[in-house]
Amino acid sequence: MTHLTDIEIARAARKQKIQAIGARLDIPEEALLPYGHDKAKVAQSFIEGLRDRPDGKLILVTAITPTPAGEGKTTTTVGLGDGLNRIGKRAAICIREASLGPCFGLKGGAAGGGYAQVIPMEDMNLHFTGDFHAITSAHNLLSAMIDNHIHWGNELQIDQRRVVWRRVMDMNDRALRDIVTSLGGPANGFPRQTGFDITVASEVMAILCLAEDLADLQRRLGEIIVAYTREKEPIRARDLKADGAMTVLLRDAMQPNLVQTLENNPAFVHGGPFANIAHGCNSVISTRLALKLADYVVTEAGFGADLGAEKFMDIKCRKAGLSPDAVVLVATVRSLKMNGGVAKENLGAENPQAVQAGCANLTRHLENLRGFGVPVVVAINRFAGDTEAELEMLRKTVEAEDAEVFLCNHWAEGSAGIEALAHRVAELADSGEAAFQLLYPDTMPLFEKIETVARKIYRADGVDADPRIRAQLAEWEAQGFGDLPVCVAKTQYSFSADPSQRGAVTGHRIPVREVRLSAGAGFIVVICGEIMTMPGLPRTPAAEGIGLNADNQVEGLF
Ligand code: ADP
Ligand code: MG
Repeated sequence: MTHLTDIEIARAARKQKIQAIGARLDIPEEALLPYGHDKAKVAQSFIEGLRDRPDGKLILVTAITPTPAGEGKTTTTVGLGDGLNRIGKRAAICIREASLGPCFGLKGGAAGGGYAQVIPMEDMNLHFTGDFHAITSAHNLLSAMIDNHIHWGNELQIDQRRVVWRRVMDMNDRALRDIVTSLGGPANGFPRQTGFDITVASEVMAILCLAEDLADLQRRLGEIIVAYTREKEPIRARDLKADGAMTVLLRDAMQPNLVQTLENNPAFVHGGPFANIAHGCNSVISTRLALKLADYVVTEAGFGADLGAEKFMDIKCRKAGLSPDAVVLVATVRSLKMNGGVAKENLGAENPQAVQAGCANLTRHLENLRGFGVPVVVAINRFAGDTEAELEMLRKTVEAEDAEVFLCNHWAEGSAGIEALAHRVAELADSGEAAFQLLYPDTMPLFEKIETVARKIYRADGVDADPRIRAQLAEWEAQGFGDLPVCVAKTQYSFSADPSQRGAVTGHRIPVREVRLSAGAGFIVVICGEIMTMPGLPRTPAAEGIGLNADNQVEGLF
């Protein structure tokens, strides 16, 4: 329907001044710290004054097992926020900030798409308000202080072979995955092997997104385990006295960013942790702020519902005391066909049978989500190539599961294309139907937590982990980390750990390769399969097509 690209649509938008957007939520001008005319941070002091206000309703947007192109969670989050505003509700959206790396690589932007976007999309996909640069700096300050401590005599007796804190940068650069530092002689310190991760994989990112306030931020930064002694005693950031300076670098980054949608509705864009080795949600502080200011808050979690929604519930909501009132499960015809066994090259051809077969994947996500006690509706994110026969098959199959389905056309039409869903979601959120429950209690032993996620969400027959891993978990329990939730790092392309297994896989087991303690963020990372914390660029990176046009506008972002 549309013939304009995302960036052309974004550029043509009639933006309002950020003060006018703030006013929609009764944020006074003096509580906004403008970054130009169309972005602002919301002042910490204002946020603190809202504590006693009642919360609005929280709506989570998640998706079925996706294709590599993404199924439109962000696009639907933005569209639904606009849709709720269209029907007269006071609604805000909360999404994550974008990482520079993927923007120059393959995936494209993180601001939504079509007529459901957040603007200014160029800024959002590039430097934005500098939060990720601040996180990069805070992270690398700690890295520098570790090597410096060793250089000046190593009073803490850090075992140089057991430094677990790496360096980060916000770029896809495979050349930095494994490196040797301190070459060049005694003046440069002691050479050791280390490497770089992408900034969004930093524990500092996860901490910023889970911290309640600046005091909690500093406490958590202090808890970060950076290395071990020869006796395997942990060394923390606090032991290196790095937590104070790191907090200073992060002070401004802790304040949520306010921008607007194409339809001039408020959007909070803050934080962006990886969805594999971290929990993949925007910051707690911005979600809480939005809940204080709006009657409805629409937010998204990364990856498919098996990973994103589970972590949203069991990590973010558990830790922040949040409780979702409704969930929207996004599905696309192309992802259903892929889950129904169609190869990527053939996704364009009409195939209602494959759609029907793929619904097994949707149904399983639906059951899982219902297990959290929250009402769920299905949103079909319509693509121009979807045929009536495919859409009809999808509707019929899902309705047979006693689920409500809404065909949504927000990508092509903006809020007008998603009104029906908006009405129903508002009704569900207001109904008080939600009786939110976590998947497992804090007190459950760590290995049992992993098994519970594997069996109940991934529907695996069990978990394979060698004695070394079980011993490590037992050791952490003895040290007082037993009440932490688990954060599984697994492929998003399958319920199993094998990305080629589509649909509703059964008979599989989940192999745990490694466990890591994120003591500052407050979760145990459970690594199942190959997980990349420093992506590379593809053969033809998106960067090759990015540049300035004759008017000095950015071209090539998508
Ligand atoms: P996710 O958040 O699930 O990763 P996004 O909302 O970022 O997905 O969408 C992924 C990409 O697909 C974006 O480039 C977006 O513009 C595009 N997209 C989303 N919905 C549609 C649609 N209905 N038709 C065409 N393109 C779409
Ligand atoms: Mg997204």
